[in-house]
This record gives sequence, structure tokens and C-alpha cells, in this order.
Amino acid sequence: MIDSHAHLDDNRFKKDQAQVIKNFEKNGVDLVVNIGADLVSSKSSVFLAENNERIYATVGVHPHDAKNYNQDVEDQLEMLSGREKVVAIGEIGLDYYYDFSPREIQKEVFWKQLELAKRVKMPVVIHSRDADQDTMDILKQAKKENPDLICLIHCYSGSVEMMREYVKMGFYIALGGATTFKNAKTPKKVAMEVPIENLLLETDSPYMTPEPNRGKRNEPKYVRLVAEQIANLRGMDVEEVISLTDKNTLDFYGIAL
Ligand SMILES: [Zn+2]
Repeated sequence: MIDSHAHLDDNRFKKDQAQVIKNFEKNGVDLVVNIGADLVSSKSSVFLAENNERIYATVGVHPHDAKNYNQDVEDQLEMLSGREKVVAIGEIGLDYYYDFSPREIQKEVFWKQLELAKRVKMPVVIHSRDADQDTMDILKQAKKENPDLICLIHCYSGSVEMMREYVKMGFYIALGGATTFKNAKTPKKVAMEVPIENLLLETDSPYMTPEPNRGKRNEPKYVRLVAEQIANLRGMDVEEVISLTDKNTLDFYGIAL
């Protein structure tokens, strides 16, 4: 089982990170991709990956932190992207829900990192919240300029129609805890409709904890709850969901075991 998106360097794991890593190993999780969200967490992700066989890393600046992006940050990200266990640029994108950085700056920094991904020939992990149309417009343009661009839309929260557009572009969709929330109609619909070849499982730990643990801290070991929910919704065998989505995760990140 693979968790395609977690933040094990988050403060909420400070006290027991080693135990949380043991927990996922003991619970059948073979790989975790730890996601960078600013320069510090990108460095922490690389450090974690280089010290744990089962962890891989991405490097990038989240839209929340776009206001702190500059040429020095970009140079350091580019250098980090060359490290052996770094498998993607991300998470990058737009967040109009919190608006922690001005929207124009979010867009500019999103573009700069898409160009970085093109230079270093890496796939991209996308974060998009309350910014569906702008994210789609930018990614469409980016795909036109760089036909090799492959993205993973993490914690996908858009419509079924938009999911189909991303699938047509050859992109992947990652689903997590939201598919288990009682009031979450659209994520459930997306979980049923997305072609299995384009689907990845994720926890987004420590956030987005699936039911029945919603409200508590999330951990990679709970990726199994996501797999079970998706299997239920699609009427599939859970082991089949796990093996097919694992293959997609390895393909997307270019991880050869
Ligand atoms: Zn994340």
C-alpha cells in the first residue's frame, strides 16, 4: 500500500515521528511520498527520504507561502530536485480559500514552478482550493507549452466534468479522507467516476483524517480506510483498488522498485 501524499515533517508529528513511521510500516504501508510545501519542509522531506527506505520526497512552495518565493528559493529547489529520492515538484498551485498570499502572486509563483518542473523534467503535484477554473486555465496553457507535463491533482475537490478534462490531459487524481465524509457528495461521485488508471490514494497526513477517525490527527496508516471507502463506492475488491492505485502512484512519480 502506498500513501501518495503526506506531511510527516509537520509540527504535529514532532514528538512521535519515528513511532508514526513504525506504525505505517507495521500496518502494510510500503511507501510514503512526503510533500514539500515551502523551502524548509522541502529540505525536511529530502532529509526524511534520505534516512528512510520507504519514504520519497517532493520539493516545492505551496500557494500559502507564495509571498516568500524568490530567486534564491527557486535555485535551492532546483538543486534539491536533483537529489536521488526527489520524485516531483510540489505541492504548488492556488488557494483562494485562505488567500494567505495575494492571488496575483500565487499565479506568478505557480507559473515559475511549472517552468522549473519543465526544466528539471519532473511531474507536478497540484494543490487547488476554491480556485478550480484558474487552476484548469493555467494547467491547460502549461500543457500546451510543455506537452510532456504530467500533473497529479491532489485532494481533488472539483466537479466530475473537470475531473474528466484532467483525465483527457493524461493527468492523475488523488483522493483521500474527503471521500469518507458524510456530507461530501462530489468527492464520492468523483471516486465512482474517475477511471481507475488515473486514481491515486493519499492521506494528506496530518490533515483530512478519514472516518471514523475524523477530527483526530491523520497518519499514513489510515490510507487503508481510503482504499476501503473507494472499493465500497466502486463495488470493487479492496486489494484490487490498492494494487491498481499503487501502480499508478509508481508510474506518476517514476519510482522503480
Ligand atoms: Zn498536502
